Amino acid sequence: MPELPEVETVRRGLEPWVAGAVIESATLKRPDLRFPFPKDFVETLEGATITTVGRRAKYLLFRLDTGWTWLSHLGMTGSYRFLGRRYKDPSRYYEPTVDEKHDHAVFRLRHPKEGPLTLIYADSRRFGFMDLFRNEAESPFLAGLGPEPLSNAFNAGEMAARFRGKKAPMKAALLDQRVVAGLGNIYVSEALHRAHILPTRAAGTLVLKSGAPSKRLDLLATGVRAVLEEAIEAGGSTLRDFRDAEGGSGYFQHRFAVYDREGEPCPTPGCRGTIKRIVQSGRATYYCPVCQH
Ligand SMILES: [Zn+2]
Repeated sequence: MPELPEVETVRRGLEPWVAGAVIESATLKRPDLRFPFPKDFVETLEGATITTVGRRAKYLLFRLDTGWTWLSHLGMTGSYRFLGRRYKDPSRYYEPTVDEKHDHAVFRLRHPKEGPLTLIYADSRRFGFMDLFRNEAESPFLAGLGPEPLSNAFNAGEMAARFRGKKAPMKAALLDQRVVAGLGNIYVSEALHRAHILPTRAAGTLVLKSGAPSKRLDLLATGVRAVLEEAIEAGGSTLRDFRDAEGGSGYFQHRFAVYDREGEPCPTPGCRGTIKRIVQSGRATYYCPVCQH
């Protein structure tokens, strides 16, 4: 399932190729993914130029010169691939093979420098979806989202204000999208391990009586940022395969410190703990019972 770093990798892979391109046609192979495509989706996209490809939490945001934004969520299995001119023979344009069953949307683009480009969205399990909005505040998906974890708006002070007096376990508190946007199950385990905080600990215990963040909450803010940045960096090396590679999804397998490592030795230097797995609110949590407290 693509988490924030994977979505950011997809964004970085797409942007140089699709920003500046006009959408000549959009073809939907079915009326819905997880939700129906918005009314007038095709009409709104066709003829518009993509100015930038942005991201908010796990949403890709294709900004259009008409003032609309085309929002795309990859769900569990959504992926983009594109095909245009091959590097070996830039004078030729290769028509991509569209799989009628598994490709759900096909966008024919024309880039001022790259020429014709076909962007294909496939999503075998169809948990992804697309939407349109003019104003972020009007998008039901974006309204109410907390700060971006990689922005300055996300910091220990902001977390302390949210966590003060909270009895909810750290794991649940960090998964709350109002606290930090787009942080998923895997990276919550990773960040808590990095900051040596037990996932079952009550969130309010990391806030000082004055309401200021404790030192460990500071460590957590840094930890969240670090695990995401490292994963994005690891994903960057897969970008090479993304362009012009039919079938390349832009996802990558990242090695995690604790996630999915039950029974393995804790990677914290000097720690002799063994990674444990528990289930919190129906989802797996991995942690080290020795160096996390
Ligand atoms: Zn440990």
